[in-house]
Amino acid sequence: MIIDLISDTVTKPTPGMLQAMMHAQVGDDVFSMDPTVNALQKKVAAMFGMEDALFFPSGTMANQAAIKIHTQPGDLLFCDKYAHVYNYESGGAAFHSGVTCRLIDGSRGMFSAAQLEEASSGSPQIYLPYARLVCIENTTNKGGGACWDFSELEKIEKITREKNLAFHLDGARLFNALVAKNETPQQYGQLFDTISICFSKGLGAPVGSMLLGSKEHIHKALRIRKLYGGGMRQVGFLASACDYALDHHVERLAEDHQKAKEIGAVLKTVSYVTKVETIETNIVIFYVDTAIGDDNFIKRMKDQKILLTPMGEGKIRIVTHLDYTNEMHAILLDALRNFQ
Ligand SMILES: *Cc1c(COP(=O)(O)O)cnc(C)c1O
Repeated sequence: MIIDLISDTVTKPTPGMLQAMMHAQVGDDVFSMDPTVNALQKKVAAMFGMEDALFFPSGTMANQAAIKIHTQPGDLLFCDKYAHVYNYESGGAAFHSGVTCRLIDGSRGMFSAAQLEEASSGSPQIYLPYARLVCIENTTNKGGGACWDFSELEKIEKITREKNLAFHLDGARLFNALVAKNETPQQYGQLFDTISICFSKGLGAPVGSMLLGSKEHIHKALRIRKLYGGGMRQVGFLASACDYALDHHVERLAEDHQKAKEIGAVLKTVSYVTKVETIETNIVIFYVDTAIGDDNFIKRMKDQKILLTPMGEGKIRIVTHLDYTNEMHAILLDALRNFQ
């Protein structure tokens, strides 16, 4: 048995999900003729109280389409130094949109309204790029699954309105934040111009993301998705997996969060761990003694069929998910306690 904690993307469809996929009604989605995709787009838009939504093959493509919608080449976007859109999307903001990222030095992937105010201060000058967009991520990936304080997001939204900046949420793991903080999709729908969500992370679908926004934004996104090669045909088979995930796999995220906290509690008791970051959702980030070394620790866990991932700067990441069972959890906790 392999205990794969590399990411919450490693899950396989459950029997119930496969059943739903087998019975999906499908059509050609490039012509907007797939009834399952159309229904899912409508359902998610309504869930967030936003006008429209568009199904995407990946979160990366949904985020990059959002950046494209809000900017022109030469423009500037603000994001945290840990942001996925900056670090882990292959330089897409520069490649697809010709946009510069101004990185804000936040904490665990989150910055304050005051930091944004400061970063965006000053009057426009001919030698400065046009600031157009603020991107935030909830939960934060590189920040260890941290959740934003909603009142800080409201302050940030106010700044974006005052300064005429668009506001995009990379919500690849937004449902983890909603469950952890007892928040609603509508709260987020009211705050942001565009939101991307992923069904392929904690929700356990094999493929699928969605971009939400106004009718005008989503109309633009439809063309950009085609331009990026993301127009798909009978993709209702995948959309039905995502629909199933929304109906069955949201509330259970609390179990992943609980297991992550239990892993963190064990890591705090063992002498070879030097630091465990605050655990709010399904991501655990910790550091081991430099005498052991992160790469060596990961290799020795791999020898025990436990897969973890390095996150740079000595960080080691564990992500709990739908396919991480109670049995695996017991084995992992023992392995962590007995490591020497
Ligand atoms: C995973 C992830 C994405 C999108 O990833 P894809 O693999 O392209 O679906 C975007 N943002 C964050 C924060 C992520 O963790």
